[in-house]
Amino acid sequence: MNIRRIICELPQYVVPQNGARIKLNQNESPFDVPEQLKKEILSRLENVSWNRYPACNAARIIKALSRYTNLSDDCIFVGNGSNEILQAIFSATCEQTDPVVFVSPGYSVFSRLAQILRLRVTTVPLLEDFRFDVTALMKEAARARLVVLATPNNPTGTTLSLKEIEAITACSNGVVVIDEAYYEFNKITAQVLLKTYNNLIITRTFSKAFGLAGLRLGYLLTQPENAREIEKARLPFSVGIFQQIAGEVLLGNSDVLDRVIQEIIDERERIFSLLRALPGITPIPSSANFILFHVEGMSAEAVFKTLYKKGVLIRHFNSERINKMLRVTIGKPAENDVFISCLQELTGT
Ligand code: PMP
Repeated sequence: MNIRRIICELPQYVVPQNGARIKLNQNESPFDVPEQLKKEILSRLENVSWNRYPACNAARIIKALSRYTNLSDDCIFVGNGSNEILQAIFSATCEQTDPVVFVSPGYSVFSRLAQILRLRVTTVPLLEDFRFDVTALMKEAARARLVVLATPNNPTGTTLSLKEIEAITACSNGVVVIDEAYYEFNKITAQVLLKTYNNLIITRTFSKAFGLAGLRLGYLLTQPENAREIEKARLPFSVGIFQQIAGEVLLGNSDVLDRVIQEIIDERERIFSLLRALPGITPIPSSANFILFHVEGMSAEAVFKTLYKKGVLIRHFNSERINKMLRVTIGKPAENDVFISCLQELTGT
């Protein structure tokens, strides 16, 4: 079959799942949507027609997001997960050989999208301690068509300050995307800059803090004329009625979400201290729902495998810069305890 060479060369996107008892590898929320909210979502789903296409403009979920973000409806559109929104942004703003900028280590989907479109990628390495190299990013932003930065960054959990985001956006002669997939865990947002900078786009997701990874719902925030144009690059009707209703119900019950988010943040700080106390383990301070940690005196891959044998699945990366590190997603307190006690056993403490 005539498949483009670039696609044949792309590795399959696979995340090892293998049914571990304790799953701490994909930065999901460990808390499922509460029973009473699931019931409300399902009863609303029962009362709409499944044979009809969803409304083109997803008006109700957009209204709910408008209340949540305090931005007007025309600044927002939704997608089938924020990955789909990223794809729409890439294809709306770039064509073959256009220069794009990411950081490394960073979220792998950015480079996949760039590869598929045959863009020219410059990666700006994070500094020794995994903070962003803002000076280098400002320099690169001036030459790039598109700069995409996740803050908090995946897999490091490190962040850009609002001032740094502004400095990079002001230097850019192209489009700057701030991926705020983990926004709810640190509450720093570039939203206030949207008014001033018409080259700024923010993407967010319901997959992390809101616990809807299985449903696929993300959204974009930008100035209205950008939103209108970029939305044209997204497939029509890609967000089904299930996601729309679920998103709306969750946003209407933000008190429940706030409690869950606070619990994850508290757990993150508890796990960080426990990791730091272990010999040979150095965690990176994180503003997200996961922690990247360095392992000394043992191979990170061996630690990954030992944990996996004990039923705890975390994440190991092959890339050179972080192959001596592991990333653990914050789970429920009891799950985190099992993870820590496995590491205590391994380190003989
Ligand atoms: N951006 C970042 C930085 C992520 O880590 C992820 C999920 N791993 C996404 C976007 C994609 O999220 P979604 O489920 O909304 O497609």
